[in-house]
Amino acid sequence: MWAVVALGGILFIITVRHASAELIDLRFLLLGVITLTVGSHVVVRIPRVKGQISVSDTFILLTMLLLDGEAAVLLAAADAFCTSLRITKSKLTILFNTAVYICATFLTAWSLRLLFGSIVGLSQHNFTSIYFEAICVMALVQYVVNSSLVATGVALKAGKPVFQMWRQSFLWSSITYFAGASAAGLVAKLISVFGFYAFLATGPIIAVVYFTYCTYLKNIEVSTSQAELATQHAKQAQRHVAALRESEERFRSAFDYAAIGMAMVSLEGNWIQVNTSLCDIVGYTEQELLAGRFQDITNPDDLIAFNISFMQLIGGELASYETEQRYVHKRGREVWVNLSTSLVRDSHGEPLHLIFQIQDVTDRKLAQEQLLHDAFHDALTGLPNRALFFDHAKMAIQRSKRDETRLFAALFLDFDRFKVINDSLGHMIGDMLLIAIARRLETCLRPGDTVARLGGDEFTILLEDLTDTGDAIEVAQRIQEEISRPFNLSGHDVFTTVSIGIAPSCTGYERADELLRDADTAMYRAKSLGRQRHEVFDKSMHDTAMKLLQLETDLRRAIERNEFVLHYQPIVSLKEGRISGFEALIRWQHPERGFVSPIEFIPLAEETGLIIPIGQWVLAEACRQMNKWQKLVPQDVPLSLSVNLSGKQFMQPDLAEQISRILAETGFDPKYLKLEITESMVMENIDSAIKLLNRIRALGVELSIDDFGTGYSSLSYLHRFPINTLKIDRSFVSQMMDGDENAEIVRTIVTLARSLQMDVVAEGVETMPQLQRLTSLHCDYVQGYLFSEPVSIMAAFDMLSTDGGVFMLAASSAEAACPSRVMAA
Ligand code: C2E
Ligand code: MG
Ligand code: MG
Repeated sequence: MWAVVALGGILFIITVRHASAELIDLRFLLLGVITLTVGSHVVVRIPRVKGQISVSDTFILLTMLLLDGEAAVLLAAADAFCTSLRITKSKLTILFNTAVYICATFLTAWSLRLLFGSIVGLSQHNFTSIYFEAICVMALVQYVVNSSLVATGVALKAGKPVFQMWRQSFLWSSITYFAGASAAGLVAKLISVFGFYAFLATGPIIAVVYFTYCTYLKNIEVSTSQAELATQHAKQAQRHVAALRESEERFRSAFDYAAIGMAMVSLEGNWIQVNTSLCDIVGYTEQELLAGRFQDITNPDDLIAFNISFMQLIGGELASYETEQRYVHKRGREVWVNLSTSLVRDSHGEPLHLIFQIQDVTDRKLAQEQLLHDAFHDALTGLPNRALFFDHAKMAIQRSKRDETRLFAALFLDFDRFKVINDSLGHMIGDMLLIAIARRLETCLRPGDTVARLGGDEFTILLEDLTDTGDAIEVAQRIQEEISRPFNLSGHDVFTTVSIGIAPSCTGYERADELLRDADTAMYRAKSLGRQRHEVFDKSMHDTAMKLLQLETDLRRAIERNEFVLHYQPIVSLKEGRISGFEALIRWQHPERGFVSPIEFIPLAEETGLIIPIGQWVLAEACRQMNKWQKLVPQDVPLSLSVNLSGKQFMQPDLAEQISRILAETGFDPKYLKLEITESMVMENIDSAIKLLNRIRALGVELSIDDFGTGYSSLSYLHRFPINTLKIDRSFVSQMMDGDENAEIVRTIVTLARSLQMDVVAEGVETMPQLQRLTSLHCDYVQGYLFSEPVSIMAAFDMLSTDGGVFMLAASSAEAACPSRVMAA
């Protein structure tokens, strides 16, 4: 920039030295004033081109044509300096601008001189073409010099390439130079024709033209801006349409390729548009769906609820609605879907259509249902479990409370011998039996009834809508008939029977567990009365059950509290007429109830398992006692000891070991011990019973069959059992005299015992005729109140020590006679 300033300075000096004094005339001053006052303020803008013609440029070129180059350079310097002063404060810029104008005007003037000889003569020239060329040269040189210098300066300042700067900012300005030069040429020509002062006369005309032009320009601008606005609007609308189309396209592909089912549905329920996922979910093609309505594929059970919500959506009561419901697949199966619906409105807010979003949730739903089913059903049989049974029972109780005529009953079922089947045939068969039982029970019931498995072999049934308790009894009978038919399981014919307790609703229930408890109590009663029975619950059963429960609690404490004692009943040898031994019989001295009979508490002890420790105590205690007596009252043949074994004890696999341990502990000689078992104990499982009996016999212990002749008929097996004694049941003995039949049975038993080399004991001998009869039948031993009731240790010892236990029997006499000791007692 400084170089340009320097060059400008030099050229200015050259110009001043070259200029003559006449140059400064009135015309120069006039042009100078006009240029500086008006010219630099007035600009003529050119529409559509970002350019303007500064009038001062025109005046400078006019000055050049009229007053020669030096005058133009001076005027340009003055004009540039004044204008720059106005627009900037930077001195360098002011000097630079001034220098640029000096250079440009100087070079323009000298180019004209070089090309056309002189400048002033040009306007007088007659050849228009030369004049025109001169004007063009003038414009061109001024433009090139001016723009290139300024562009260079600005580019250097901004640190940008010069050419780029020139092209960007100055290319367009060329036209203004040509316009300005043309105007100057035209005015100069006018002046050459009409004289200089004609120029002044053109002033008002030029002003009018100028302002007209300005108005025209404004109009053009308005219309241009209107046109531009319209174009802009048009473009905007186009963009809008394109954006709409794009968003529609996006929506369409999102709709078509969505992973979930989507549909547009009319307000009447017709499918308007459906996507592929929806077609996959329901199995219909797009065409098939579009021909129908959503109602066609909705499960009728779910339709009513959905229709209500659908109407609420359309009515604007709901903004959106989500539900889980069932559709019917084209193949007929059920499809669970999660359905979200929302309403689409038009620009006026009127309902247009609905959008359905449909997700297939069948798998989740099935898994949920399975979980729910498992929580309320027994895994083995698939029947309802305890929880579900309780649920149904609760509902039945509620219903009958509201309406007393609605009777119901609970049945509690327990299968006899199930444990034996399970243990002997294995768990596989046991499970198969339970499943088969479940299926048979289902056939006995009506649709509204519930059969449940509580666990093990316990099943319960809830019968509803009964007319009276008789209905429940009928069902129980039907079940018993059904169950008594053999089950064929893997080639085995398995038999079982069932004991049923019935709790009818008329008892009055508040809770389901009470209902079940009473049915259980009734079942327990049925079982205790013999197998394959049913019993209807009554309140007294509950009392009995409660007493039993109390007894059970007391029984548990009885051993620790030493509440048991043993009584001894003599067994008399008819041959010798004296006591041959004693049967030990347990007595319970209950702190409140006094003596409790073994008939009452032994079954309870068996059921609770307490019989095991009790039985061991009895055996040990009796052995110890008999040891003492054997020592205190020595006899030729030592006294024998009979001890009862219960069924539960007999099932103990280590029974033989238990006995041998007790014998060792007490030091009692095994050959004087007789263990009493019943027929039923050995008949449950004959082979294993025989094995166990042999092991006991191997200890040296003798075995008796108690209560022989009742219950099972073991005659055909008897020879296989290692038995020493048969004890004829007291029922035969007591009725012996009434009819000959019983006497015949006794005779037969005696004969049988003889042939099997067994001894015979007759139990329950109460009268002399009975004794005589037994004597005549050659019975070996007798036991009964005729001789003595079971008595305490002291009394038994008295019996032994007086006469060494000898009874004076009048056996030979046919008349009624009494044993002397009995008389004495
Ligand atoms: P069981 O073994 O048949 O005992 C004979 C029962 O008949 C005894 O009843 C006895 O008192 C009774 N009795 C004896 N002679 C006569 C008579 O002339 N007339 C009448 N009416 N009855 C007579 P008890 O002591 O009440 O025992 C009943 C049952 O209890 C026993 O029958 C036995 O099965 C069981 N039992 C008693 N003690 C024990 C024991 O320590 N262990 C086991 N497992 N059971 C026992
Ligand atoms: Mg006995
Ligand atoms: Mg007996």
